[in-house]
Amino acid sequence: MIQPIPMLTDNYCWLLSMPDRNDALLVDPSESDKAIQALEHAGRTLAGILITHHHADHVGGVQGIVDRLGPLPVVCSLYDHRHNRVPCATTEVGEGDIIEMAGMTFSICDVPGHTLGAIAYYNADANAAFTGDTLFLAGCGRLFEGTPAMMHASLQKLAALPPETLIYCGHEYTARNLRFAISIDPENIAIQNRIEKLPSDNIPTVPATLATELATNPFLRVETPSLRTFTHCDDPVGVFTALREARNRY
Ligand code: ZN
Ligand code: FE
Repeated sequence: MIQPIPMLTDNYCWLLSMPDRNDALLVDPSESDKAIQALEHAGRTLAGILITHHHADHVGGVQGIVDRLGPLPVVCSLYDHRHNRVPCATTEVGEGDIIEMAGMTFSICDVPGHTLGAIAYYNADANAAFTGDTLFLAGCGRLFEGTPAMMHASLQKLAALPPETLIYCGHEYTARNLRFAISIDPENIAIQNRIEKLPSDNIPTVPATLATELATNPFLRVETPSLRTFTHCDDPVGVFTALREARNRY
């Protein structure tokens, strides 16, 4: 089971558990109190924490959780571990690594761009990818540390997962991202349909399938003729760069 725990203004922490066990994992807890409450509510012990990247709105709750629940495995990227960017980190992982925790198996993708140490966790059994601030629904993260070429390559890597993969991202930005997407790709029926089906406020839009993203997310669609025309660019990285700059100004 994968449950959202809304945190801060628009962050999602994810609570992951298997039906036949009494433990659970957390992905990107930014607030310890809400995370511990959710664990108690679910009647689960915490087997470990998975971190997608070092930003405070993804790791802010780790210290408080470890203080209250005692030492436990905290997984992050090699880069973030070696730069001491994740509090209480115990385990570093990188591209192609496979980890097993709380009865679940995850393979790791390095997805630098938003930050240099960003990683995604893919769980084939649950059909789920935890993409942090790299791939958002209908958008992508800002480039704080990496280059456009890096981020484009990271998004292409995620785009190659099975199309039925459910994308669990780190923020509820979908409505705004879709408004931007339709502004630059107004003829795209899939985006129009997705906007019409947006739930009312406070209902999570996350997850969505990768197939939906491939049809609507401009940052995965840099080869699309209309987006090439919009950006006056031909090469994919050039289109990506121009789209990211346009989204920064939006
Ligand atoms: Zn971030
Ligand atoms: Fe974030």
